[in-house]
Amino acid sequence: MQLNGPRKKKLIVAFHFHIAAPRGWDCDECRKQHLEVKRRCGWVPESQLTESKPVWIRRQVETDCCPKWLINAQSLEWLEAFAAWRGGYLEQGALTAKQIEAFQVLQNELVKETHYAKQTTADNISRAEAGRFR
Ligand SMILES: [Zn+2]
Repeated sequence: MQLNGPRKKKLIVAFHFHIAAPRGWDCDECRKQHLEVKRRCGWVPESQLTESKPVWIRRQVETDCCPKWLINAQSLEWLEAFAAWRGGYLEQGALTAKQIEAFQVLQNELVKETHYAKQTTADNISRAEAGRFR
């Protein structure tokens, strides 16, 4: 069984949100800056919400509501366990089936992230090199 649907999406959003750690994306901030309707934070009554549109985007991931609100305790737990597992603090045999499914999703995202980081670095280098010839 593969982790799929909303739970997978939440986990992927949690992963990207964790990496990007965007400033000001906290529901306290949303409230303070009166952005809760625009960002569609989960506590805004449905009657006040405007039409659904992408609110937060990173790479191939987008959410139509406040990402902070979307990320749940389960996603965070999986993120932490994943970090512990990668650090060698969690034995493969101790993992639950659900954790293994979650880790596959996270591993997949991590590979894409690493690939992207390499590409960006390569782009920067070639741009810097090109600059030398101007
Ligand atoms: Zn919010």
